[in-house]
Amino acid sequence: MRIAHTQQVQKFPLQYYVLVKIIMEEFFYRILFVALYAVFFSVRGYYRFVRPKRVEPETIVTERKEFGIAEKTLSVAILGYFGAIILYLLNIPWLALIQIQMYPELVRWIGVALALASVPLLGWIHKILDRQYSPCLQIKKSHSLITEGPYSRVRHPMYTVLSMFAFGSALVTANYLIIGFAILLIIPFPYVAKKEEKMLLDTFGDEYSEYIKRTGRFFPRI
Ligand code: SAH
Repeated sequence: MRIAHTQQVQKFPLQYYVLVKIIMEEFFYRILFVALYAVFFSVRGYYRFVRPKRVEPETIVTERKEFGIAEKTLSVAILGYFGAIILYLLNIPWLALIQIQMYPELVRWIGVALALASVPLLGWIHKILDRQYSPCLQIKKSHSLITEGPYSRVRHPMYTVLSMFAFGSALVTANYLIIGFAILLIIPFPYVAKKEEKMLLDTFGDEYSEYIKRTGRFFPRI
């Protein structure tokens, strides 16, 4: 029996075993990746979809809808990023080849730490930004300038935290495509932030220019 088994085993090329090993090892990280997404998106989903339904809808005073190169890049990156995630989760054998080989486990855990740390931060940011939050650039009728909590030191903490989660969770996967699209996703944020600042400057004038002087765009000023 033993001999027969060995003969059976030898029929398969070595690459096959390498592939199977990658797939099995990756199983644990796939579960971890999905768990991180579930935690992050339950916070995000609550503030984006559940909570707004409980408050009165508001009149929008200003809206910046121009679709420039930054927004186009962001859209392509979001599509590519989630497409890559689906492929990663589908576990198609040949896709194991786009897994980075010799990937240090420490990098995966740095990714887990980044992604986990971004969850309470996101909750805090949403709580403070409250009704001024919108998925696209808008000024509402009762809009007030928020300068408390995370906004007392940073002008775009939400973009920082979204980038932190996208990049952190991508590091967990060790997947070329996901990491690549996560980086592409982060690149447009400074451009979107600039446009947003212009809109806020037009609305809040001196109050916002003073606020710019004492805060950093994505990280606190040293
Ligand atoms: N860029 C911010 C907010 C993202 S939500 C961040 O990264 O944290 C986008 C909306 O937030 C925009 O429509 C803008 O009107 C609003 N906004 C951004 N900064 C604000 C502030 N300091 N006070 C009030 N509203 C703000």
